[in-house]
Amino acid sequence: MGIEKIDYQRCNGCLQCWDTCPMDVIRVLGKTVYLAYPEDCMCCYLCELACPNDAIYVSPKRTKSKPLPW
Ligand code: SF4
Ligand code: SF4
Repeated sequence: MGIEKIDYQRCNGCLQCWDTCPMDVIRVLGKTVYLAYPEDCMCCYLCELACPNDAIYVSPKRTKSKPLPW
């Protein structure tokens, strides 16, 4: 449970996920985001919601019936 992956075929490097993550899980190297501290992910889905390209995946998959954890 937590952040699974970034799909680099979809990612355009907009940095929205990096800017949004409250736990500093995502870092930037050059213009590429990567999962630096996946064990710190609290599964808040903010990165998924922020991503304009549906390129970041958090598990379990968020559903409309599943409330955010706050
Ligand atoms: S689900 Fe939340 S804590 Fe986990 S990487 Fe995304 S924004 Fe960060
Ligand atoms: S928000 Fe999505 S498109 Fe933007 S850097 Fe993150 S994964 Fe890539």
